[in-house]
Amino acid sequence: MTDVLIAGGLTPTGPHGAAAVADVGLEDGRISAVGVDLSREGAKTVIDAAGSYVLPGLVDPHVHVSGRFGSPVGLGMLVRAGVTAALDLAGDAQDLQGNLSRAGCGLTVGVLHALIPGDTVESADVSEAAVERFLDEQLERGAYGVKILGGHYPLTPEATEGVLRACNDRGVYCAVHAGTTASGSDVEGLEELLELAAGRPVHVAHVNSYCRGQVEHPTAEAQRAIAALSQAPAAWSDSYLSRINGADGLCADGVPVSGVVKTCLRLGGYEQTEQGLERAIADGWALVQAPAEDDVGFADADEGVRLFRRSTEVGVSFLVNPSAALLPLALARIADGTFAVDAFGSDGGSIPRNTTLRQGLALVRGDFLTLGEFVEKACAEPARRLGLQDKGRFDVGARADVILVDGDGACRHTFIGGRERVRDGVIVDRVGGTLLAAPDQSKC
Ligand SMILES: [Zn+2]
Repeated sequence: MTDVLIAGGLTPTGPHGAAAVADVGLEDGRISAVGVDLSREGAKTVIDAAGSYVLPGLVDPHVHVSGRFGSPVGLGMLVRAGVTAALDLAGDAQDLQGNLSRAGCGLTVGVLHALIPGDTVESADVSEAAVERFLDEQLERGAYGVKILGGHYPLTPEATEGVLRACNDRGVYCAVHAGTTASGSDVEGLEELLELAAGRPVHVAHVNSYCRGQVEHPTAEAQRAIAALSQAPAAWSDSYLSRINGADGLCADGVPVSGVVKTCLRLGGYEQTEQGLERAIADGWALVQAPAEDDVGFADADEGVRLFRRSTEVGVSFLVNPSAALLPLALARIADGTFAVDAFGSDGGSIPRNTTLRQGLALVRGDFLTLGEFVEKACAEPARRLGLQDKGRFDVGARADVILVDGDGACRHTFIGGRERVRDGVIVDRVGGTLLAAPDQSKC
């Protein structure tokens, strides 16, 4: 018997991925039927979805919900943004496991542990033996894989290459924020990364963040990034659509610690000091994140300055992502017909930019992407990459991770495994979640 019948929504089932009106049945945690005018008889619940999109839950390959770069409040923010599975790109497995069991909202989340010189590894020139130890320890703790945070905490090019090699040899998932001690978090850093990867698999994080106009015009940088990625078929990449970035405002001796913050201040014409950052906040060039009980938003300028004066250890976001680069990275295809950038990530979670649905569906409404293409980049492709065979799909037999989304991109309902987690935009069930286990390391 059908548990839930979602009737008359716009689904990605039309020819060539066009939106088409269809009904969707959910039963025993699976999608049991997709079709026109399915029988409502016997359905326990019928939801009228006329005028809404009905889609597989998003599989977000770039979020922050644990460790020092994210907080558990992000789990609720994800599920309200239509995400049903995700990869935390620099968190902590045990922290995440605790967060998931307390309030996982049914999400499946894997986590990459970051190599941070002077913190989680001894130095930027981390030795082969130390890399092996790091991999052993973090996999043992439950990490899905590892992350190099080049733009924030760079390793040497040699150590970066060593980590990529060790991960490839052992079949460990590795994501990289481009940049080493010899290059920046920019398009040159991206090109260097793909050279160092030398045909080995690597998840290139947030490609858009290397195309902010630091080396040349953002459009030219996006073209370079697309060309470099098209030459690196084993590289897998995400980019996000939000105009804002996210970084840590922490200052020491009157200077921001994060290189990303310094760059953003320079791009806005501000001094690269604590004072410069305060001015940027007062002017609205930098937004201060304001955590609330169930959400993270942005403080207005006055409140932002007040929070920053109380402690510089606040999340800050700058309006640094030009659409001149965001759009080509979102839309470009390469010669074999696949997308140059494989997936939409949000780089969100507890960073308030969970905008993939809202902004991605704006591209669909504007006829820049079909609904099917949006689902490919936001659901199906990242699900395949993470080995989530029965997620990200909209077929009979797939897991009933299904979302209902208003015409303007706001998520109204989220079902995970057929269980309702969000109703009318409000979380109704937070119990449980699954830590995604690392891929089988049979390659070693
Ligand atoms: Zn990130």
